[in-house]
Amino acid sequence: MRSTERKTLIDRLRKRYARQLVSEGGDPSIANNIFDENALTLGFARRFATYKRPDLLLFDSERLVRLLSDPQRPVQLILAGIAHPQDFPGQALIKKWKDFIRRPEVRSRVVFLNDYDMMLAQHMVHGIDLWLNTPRRPWEACGTSGMKVLVNGGLNLSELDGWWAEAYSPEVGWAIGDGKEHGDDPACDRTEAEAVYAALENEAIPEFYERNEKGLPLKWLGRVRESMARLTSEFSATRAIREYTENHYLPAAASYRERMDGDSSLGVSLLQWQQEIVWHWSTVRFGPLEIKTHDGQHFFQVEVSPGALSKDQLTVELYADPAQGGEPVHEVMTAAESSADSHGVIIYSAKVPAIRPASDYTARVIPRHPNASVPLEAGQILWQR
Ligand SMILES: *Cc1c(COP(=O)(O)O)cnc(C)c1O
Repeated sequence: MRSTERKTLIDRLRKRYARQLVSEGGDPSIANNIFDENALTLGFARRFATYKRPDLLLFDSERLVRLLSDPQRPVQLILAGIAHPQDFPGQALIKKWKDFIRRPEVRSRVVFLNDYDMMLAQHMVHGIDLWLNTPRRPWEACGTSGMKVLVNGGLNLSELDGWWAEAYSPEVGWAIGDGKEHGDDPACDRTEAEAVYAALENEAIPEFYERNEKGLPLKWLGRVRESMARLTSEFSATRAIREYTENHYLPAAASYRERMDGDSSLGVSLLQWQQEIVWHWSTVRFGPLEIKTHDGQHFFQVEVSPGALSKDQLTVELYADPAQGGEPVHEVMTAAESSADSHGVIIYSAKVPAIRPASDYTARVIPRHPNASVPLEAGQILWQR
């Protein structure tokens, strides 16, 4: 399947490239003699925005030339992409590739296709063996194109950013970067460029060309199987749309109907609640906070004066940032029943296991309404300091 898809892609590539040569005033017959249907085919296609570092592969262009022109284990590269008309640095990166492609040693192994669009993307993801993505962390929100190769049996070599930070494991492909942010430090570009070359030279290329007696690259196919089995169902539009629908669209539609029912009484009361929160939020006050630690627990007690708002309109909670990789802590504090007398001050308390320092926790007040979505509909927040 992989070989058939690659052949189809290269066939389409030659035709498309011939048209492109004509439009650029070149000789279309050149397109017949480019690319090898059996060679490892890399793909890189996306918007040419600087944070995506589309020139990372060119960091050591001599090393790239050596990779591409290896007569025993040739590698070829299809590039496509567009830059915004006002994005001059992005356009300069396209030019950098076009200049590189003019070198005679690589002319038959690298092509830059103009006018990247969904049709071209579809043709590419069908036939590419290895999809590259080299953005600068933490700017890649997703990196959708890498997911498009999955179902076609393509593999990924990517920065640990966007979806690949979630999806990568050594059995399914290759990763570069240490998962940390380094700004635009040129030393980091060098390290990561070298990691791309090393992954290609030491693993991807040898695995693609190591064939058994039936001509099958078993290690490569092992990765294809793992990648398809583990990732296709997880990183798919089907899952995304189902989760949006179940977790967001349907609850939002149900809640809309609830708010409309009976002359919109709930809708009206929510609006009033919102206005009261806006008007009176600045009258909410924190009093002193007390922390005691015993029996393996931190006990927090804090005074809150709701001002012109009522106790029911507020949630008091302890907040702590996530402990390595986890979720943030929201521990709701409970109001003492008997405390609503002295000048409207209410005493709230909560306990948490003393596995983290008490100083990790901060008390805060946020708006509350049983039917409202907070903070979406009321983003106020008051921190105890
Ligand atoms: C998938 C796709 C993109 C997005 O790709 P990224 O990897 O997220 O940058 C952009 N343009 C086209 C035409 C696409 O098909």
